[in-house]
Amino acid sequence: MRFLVTNDDGIHAEGLIQLAASLATLGEVTVVAPDNERSATGHAITMHYPLRVRRVVLPGLDIQAYAVDGTPADCVKLGIDVLLEGRPDFVFTGINRGANLGTDVLYSGTVSAAIEGCIMGVRSAAFSLLHGDGDKMDYAYAGKIAIKVAEIISGKNLSPDTLINVNIPSVPQNQIRGMKVTRLGRRRYTKNYEKREDPRGRTYYWLSGQLIEEEMESDIDIDAVNNNYVSITPLHYDLTSYEMMSILQSWGFEEDFTD
Ligand code: MN
Repeated sequence: MRFLVTNDDGIHAEGLIQLAASLATLGEVTVVAPDNERSATGHAITMHYPLRVRRVVLPGLDIQAYAVDGTPADCVKLGIDVLLEGRPDFVFTGINRGANLGTDVLYSGTVSAAIEGCIMGVRSAAFSLLHGDGDKMDYAYAGKIAIKVAEIISGKNLSPDTLINVNIPSVPQNQIRGMKVTRLGRRRYTKNYEKREDPRGRTYYWLSGQLIEEEMESDIDIDAVNNNYVSITPLHYDLTSYEMMSILQSWGFEEDFTD
């Protein structure tokens, strides 16, 4: 198995190094990752600046690694097009520091990098580890989950337009109850911006936001991790609302102007 590994927390993030180390037990890993933090950059790509690539040595790992001064999606495009010799079998992203659940996936660089892998026709998965109490995060356990996911999908015919979004609860390993297939929930925030004043008396705004916990059904990703399950969500990037197509036609949006 040949893996392209990237993330949005930057090439020196603990979660990335763990993901690369775990997957290296299964096959050949190449890391192509942003040179520093690019969280919440979504699916942005760099068009108006050149991209610089630098070879790096990752601590304790004997694998090819490249730092790119671009976004996670840039890393996947550049990795597959230019840096890797031959196509990878998988694009695996993460392990992100913090959840990528519900509507937050639309902002996530980690998930977007996996979407880019899908767009380029490579089977892809995104991994995120929730923040637990305090700062301690068990990336080693999350790495084991990544191995399990690779083993399951390697023998299966995962549709090329579908990626797997994995969220791992941050509780001790013996409290994790299993894995659950889920759908995206809704994450909404309130009091999004704090209004402050800079030393020169000018107003500025800082994104903060409090999560609104909404009523949840048990097949939702947020509910699964809240109940100590690893959440496994199949995502596709085709945003078409198929059920609305015939409705829009009936509203008069379909009309032949040549008659
Ligand atoms: Mn991140």
